[in-house]
Amino acid sequence: MSPAKSTVLVTGGAGYIGSHTVLALKNAGYDVVILDNLVYGHRDLVENILQVELIVGDTGDRPMLDNLFQSREIAAVMHFSAYAYVGESVTDPAKYYRNNVVGTLTLLEAMLCASVNKFVFSSTCATYGVPNVVPIPEDHPQNPINPYGATKLMVERILSDFDVAYNLKSVRFRYFNAAGADPNGLLGEDHNPETHLIPLVLQTALGNRDSISIFGTDYPTPDGTCIRDYIHVNDLAAAHVLGLEYLLKGGDSEVFNLGNGSGFSVREVIEAAKEVTGCEIPIKECDRRAGDPPALTGSGEKATKILGWQPQYPSLKDIVSHAWEWHQKRHK
Ligand code: UDP
Repeated sequence: MSPAKSTVLVTGGAGYIGSHTVLALKNAGYDVVILDNLVYGHRDLVENILQVELIVGDTGDRPMLDNLFQSREIAAVMHFSAYAYVGESVTDPAKYYRNNVVGTLTLLEAMLCASVNKFVFSSTCATYGVPNVVPIPEDHPQNPINPYGATKLMVERILSDFDVAYNLKSVRFRYFNAAGADPNGLLGEDHNPETHLIPLVLQTALGNRDSISIFGTDYPTPDGTCIRDYIHVNDLAAAHVLGLEYLLKGGDSEVFNLGNGSGFSVREVIEAAKEVTGCEIPIKECDRRAGDPPALTGSGEKATKILGWQPQYPSLKDIVSHAWEWHQKRHK
């Protein structure tokens, strides 16, 4: 391997998207330090698979952050750590504003104090709220409809203001529906509690759940169920490496949607899972889940144009197959 490039601090590197990105960074020759409070992250994946330094702590812990930045040469920060359960953000918004906003602000202040001014941020299509148009362009108005989306939008605004005032350069990625798993089977999705469609469908295929609930069958979509833009987690990871390189080369602050530009309905996802797994997947048709827009898709064209990003796994079958490999190993 070529000698290590710069050291990148990855917050939330023990989580789903963070861990896949750490692997991509390592493969690209970067040194990585993970900061993760392990509330939802997995120590075993860091120790056994990623094998990089893990600092267990919160982004709101300023003395710890000052010590971290003073004792290492950090070239840039990738910030994945955040609470991300939409429903919980409605019932316990204080938890979300404190961690996602105050924690991030503390991290940014510590960075500036240590003269680190490059930041790659995990934002979300939830900042758009209910879109007027799909695929959603990056300049679409942002009107989040839940506290989770609001926390991410607040950080986006902080980043814009910090660029003007303090020259903090950031790449903000607005993800659509992260899905799939490392194609080599090393990493995957392991949320507890799990609320996302694809892992729940696969847990049903494994027999760990009796059925999969379809939340709403009367949406104005061709089969009545919601359409989402599922984007492979390795494609997200690759975009982060490109975003980092863009900033390290002196790129200006930018925002990018990360999606495939088209979507699949809940029923299509379940059909794909039946095909991939060969298992019965009993369904239960249920009422709509509060706050679900009928269709959310977003084009990655801007990321392709500016960063050279090319998703490798846009096929739903690939996404579900890779997730299935992982689920059979991890959740059997
Ligand atoms: N969904 C569903 N049953 C489930 C979980 C999710 O029908 O058990 C639907 C959900 O209503 C949405 C889509 O699947 O339309 C994707 O939901 P997910 O929670 O995976 O991601 P989100 O779009 O909320 O970020």
